[in-house]
Amino acid sequence: MRQRFTARAAVVGNRAGTVVPDVVLDVEDGAITWLGPAPEAPDAGDAEVVALPGVLTPGLVNTHSHAPMALFRGQGEGLPLDRWLQDVMWPREARLTPEDVEAAMTAASAEMLGNGITTSVEMYFHPERIAAAVGTTGARAVIATPLLPLPGMPPMEEQLAAAVALATGASGDGRVEYGLGPHAAYTVPLPVLRDAAAAAREHGLLVSLHVAETTTEGADLLAAHGMSVPALLAAQGVLGGRVLAAHCVHMDDDDLELWREYDVAVAHCPASNAKLASGVARVRDMLDRGIRLGLGTDGPASNDSLDLLADLRLAAAMARLREGAATALSAAEAFWLATGAAADAVGRPDLGVLEAGRRADLVHVDTRDLVFEPVGDPADLLAHLVWSADGRHVRDVWVGGEPVVRDGVSTRVDADASRRDVAERAARLAAG
Ligand SMILES: [Zn+2]
Repeated sequence: MRQRFTARAAVVGNRAGTVVPDVVLDVEDGAITWLGPAPEAPDAGDAEVVALPGVLTPGLVNTHSHAPMALFRGQGEGLPLDRWLQDVMWPREARLTPEDVEAAMTAASAEMLGNGITTSVEMYFHPERIAAAVGTTGARAVIATPLLPLPGMPPMEEQLAAAVALATGASGDGRVEYGLGPHAAYTVPLPVLRDAAAAAREHGLLVSLHVAETTTEGADLLAAHGMSVPALLAAQGVLGGRVLAAHCVHMDDDDLELWREYDVAVAHCPASNAKLASGVARVRDMLDRGIRLGLGTDGPASNDSLDLLADLRLAAAMARLREGAATALSAAEAFWLATGAAADAVGRPDLGVLEAGRRADLVHVDTRDLVFEPVGDPADLLAHLVWSADGRHVRDVWVGGEPVVRDGVSTRVDADASRRDVAERAARLAAG
């Protein structure tokens, strides 16, 4: 099947912030085959033509999410972390069923698609149910099976073996990819981290884990081993391969140097880091060292929106505040962190940029809004997208050329029914 998309402009999602006005984008069998200005376009032939009044962007890539936690959005607001976990989260999660996870992921996935997020890296219980949910909504996901020593869960070695079996047995069609999600160095025994990393390297799997989110989480490991968590991970053979470390807020120069040396990618979650007062990551220093970096929402219980267009604005603002310079993160870089750079951080060169050869994950942003004026230069569209737009400006979304959101509405999921389902399940989980 051949499709031709025409639009006012395309923001392609590269580091340079390229904007192509009066754009034509051709798609064949779910992949982009040509992109450029309309006067240079090849003959459309028998392609189905989709004429869009607004701006085309790549589908956004969310590098860190626990989206089924939509069941717990806003619960325990304002509590300190220990009480939030012990009094609010863990009792609810102990009652969670596989059906709850699928229902919540379905709703949250549809919400993300509505905000232009076509791929998310998920880490949550019942990974097959997360896969089933994105099968329903039409999104893509990289699902890192959580490895965590919790009461009621199998021994760690069994968890790891099952996670590897799930990942290596999957079809590899590009819609759902499974990885490994050893939660963090302060929760998972070091030998398990080492084995998980070795298995991931052997099979080319993504390893997603939390690193240096708070000031205190590494204190016991520092006392026991005399090393920071990044140094400990390096010494234990955990680094190398497709390692994606979430947060990385409290990193000194030596830690960053290790990330550069081992090509560890960072999932930067500014909204979660701000809400939980975790701190401000050293985004400029990471980029200057050539460290791969992408944006993540984190879970909806600690963000609370699943809106990367809003979060990339926060990323730019926080980086500028941290450095005391309006040049600390450009609008082009901020948008790239949610698109091309995010795909690179996840290790998915098939996603994140509008260019020939990549998958046709497309977002149409409606620019018929005062926040998109004035436009004296096409680059103004990128500035407005970063500083003024958010998820509500997303009108249409395609994944692999298939429409999944049309005129702001999911083509696959009844949003009202899905919302009521989540509300009922959340009430049951809260009541106990
Ligand atoms: Zn997380």
